[in-house]
Amino acid sequence: MKINFETTPEFARQIDKNDVLAKFRNQFYIDDDKTIYLDGNSLGRLPLKTKDLIARAVQKQWGTDLIESWNKNWYTKPEVLGNKIAQIIGASDGEVIVSDSTSVNLYKLAKAAINFQKGKTRIVSDVFNFPTDLYILQGIIRELGNNYELVLANSKDEISIDLDDLKSKINENTALVVLSMVAFKSAFLYDANEITVWAHQKGALVLWDLSHAAGAVPVELNKTNADLAVGCTYKYLNGGPGSPAFLYVRKDLQDQLSSPIQGWFGEENPFEFGLNYRSASGIRKFLTGTPPVLNLLAIEPGLDLLIEPGIDNLYEKSKGLSEYFIFLTSEFLFEFGFEIGSPLDPAQRGSHISIKHPEAYRICQSLIHLGNAELKIIPDFREPDNIRFGFTPLYTTFTEIWKTVERLGIIMKTHEYELFGSERNAVT
Ligand SMILES: *Cc1c(COP(=O)(O)O)cnc(C)c1O
Repeated sequence: MKINFETTPEFARQIDKNDVLAKFRNQFYIDDDKTIYLDGNSLGRLPLKTKDLIARAVQKQWGTDLIESWNKNWYTKPEVLGNKIAQIIGASDGEVIVSDSTSVNLYKLAKAAINFQKGKTRIVSDVFNFPTDLYILQGIIRELGNNYELVLANSKDEISIDLDDLKSKINENTALVVLSMVAFKSAFLYDANEITVWAHQKGALVLWDLSHAAGAVPVELNKTNADLAVGCTYKYLNGGPGSPAFLYVRKDLQDQLSSPIQGWFGEENPFEFGLNYRSASGIRKFLTGTPPVLNLLAIEPGLDLLIEPGIDNLYEKSKGLSEYFIFLTSEFLFEFGFEIGSPLDPAQRGSHISIKHPEAYRICQSLIHLGNAELKIIPDFREPDNIRFGFTPLYTTFTEIWKTVERLGIIMKTHEYELFGSERNAVT
């Protein structure tokens, strides 16, 4: 979307009117037009179809059909959903499966890869990675007797990773590179092809965390010859709170890697109840145990909503929304000391923008808890000074962005944020 933006609210309304994706907003449960939700990158909105599906599944599949639902619908669901997610992240049938949380999937695939890369003792990640990823890697290293080292690539500007630094840290002794494709704070986006080619030249495998990328940017796992990936379904995939995560293993690697958690759902035939584990073949070997079925079922309508318009169209709108937000921020908010905390080049960015301000926490509180306003705006705060705005092309409008920037201007002009304290909530 190449647009010459204008500062008026009429302009925002006009782009919304011409937006070919506008109709998708009606597919979500939005009960309150006094709320602007810009946190779909943390917890996606509820699709209307999911609301009905869960009500019906509770009644019929759990209430009436009970245990028979396993054969009717539930047992194959992790693969069925995996194949739909594959369409969104550029993978093939049989390469993606839904299971566990992102943290647990990261553990399974990282440990499997490290075991496979015998003799290599370096793991590379970066300082932008989501903490759980680093914690999991630190735990694996402890389990392996501290004979491994975790090396982190740095950033010079807190916005992008220094790619020369990253590349210099991937050497012949590197077993695995673990990176979030889109950084959760700054939205920095890696060029997956560049990193994969570099890592493979050194004999390292790459494990992508797609939590902030899946459903937000075009991810081309097959085209970039990606090895491994994990990601959340409750962010841009709109699967609901705590919905199980996904994992991807490239076809030819599936035979070579074994799951370090040998649960019965990853067994060749769980219902033989054999006493000795035999690994299932294919992607099912990375399952562990019984999934949270209601949360699992809740994922499907959200995936259909992404597949219908296609990720390329969604990405076009995402870039338009982000560029518009940056434009309005520079027009109206720089004078109050805000800075952009995300890459300015859309090609290097996911679907959220962080803006930085020393009073970010209190400004964020003011947006959410109204202050003197009638309009509630929900972004989120990320330490130490980021307000993070997630743009979900399926339901975010240009008018919402205009109103958000207008509201930020009022909060700054009137010092309204001073009504709030700096004491952090448990979940920010
Ligand atoms: C949200 C997020 C997670 C969360 O992991 P859970 O196990 O679902 O809590 C992990 N990694 C990244 C990059 C994330 O953005």
